[in-house]
Amino acid sequence: MIPGTVHYTSNRAGLTDRYWTTPSLTPLLVSVAGAVRISDVPANSVVYRDPVNEKLGGEVPGWFFVRTQGASGWMEASVLARTSTARTSNTLGWTRTLILSVPNGTLAAKHLVAIPWDPEKTLIAAPALADLTRLNNAFKVKFAKNLDVDLANRTLGTQRYLYEDLGPYIAAKPGTSNHGWGMAIDVPETFEYSFDGAYYKWLKANSYKCNWIHRTNLEQYRADGSLNPYAESWHFEYVGK
Ligand SMILES: [Zn+2]
Repeated sequence: MIPGTVHYTSNRAGLTDRYWTTPSLTPLLVSVAGAVRISDVPANSVVYRDPVNEKLGGEVPGWFFVRTQGASGWMEASVLARTSTARTSNTLGWTRTLILSVPNGTLAAKHLVAIPWDPEKTLIAAPALADLTRLNNAFKVKFAKNLDVDLANRTLGTQRYLYEDLGPYIAAKPGTSNHGWGMAIDVPETFEYSFDGAYYKWLKANSYKCNWIHRTNLEQYRADGSLNPYAESWHFEYVGK
């Protein structure tokens, strides 16, 4: 198996050894001296070290083979930290309208906050956090656990990579995804969050009360009863009030 060719379907991919990018941004490389895969990952983005593929690829001192933003590759260890330093509330007062005026996929660290209850400190557009927190509080009342988030903000570089790698059924056309404004979340692809799962069913029925929605065009079946090839049980969007 060649590192970088692994097709995971989620950000975490079962990896648990977490790091966060520091303000000195680091590119994700195909190999330690090779092409850049993604270069626009903002500060405080979570990165998972992948020791199995690191060994397979041949360990290089000072470099980690990692998984981040749904892509894998090599990063310099020196720019990764063990903790996130991202803000966890919208202290800069960003509005949804202001975020939408930023070109898709180019949100900077200042536009983003970490989801406080998420162990991965996943980054999301600052104005979307208050309503996501309300949704999480209601979810907790129902299920006695926090809402899980796999991925939220996605950069243009990442979206381009995913579109080329996974294709249009999985990734939106670059420049059009609400992930590019940090106003969409993907929950994990586990049974409970699938179309038949209790978490999905509850979120589908209730998230709109907190201005988060699951779109009709992502449902399992189309209006004519046929299977929807674009179905995604895991994708929710922040639509504001
Ligand atoms: Zn999504």
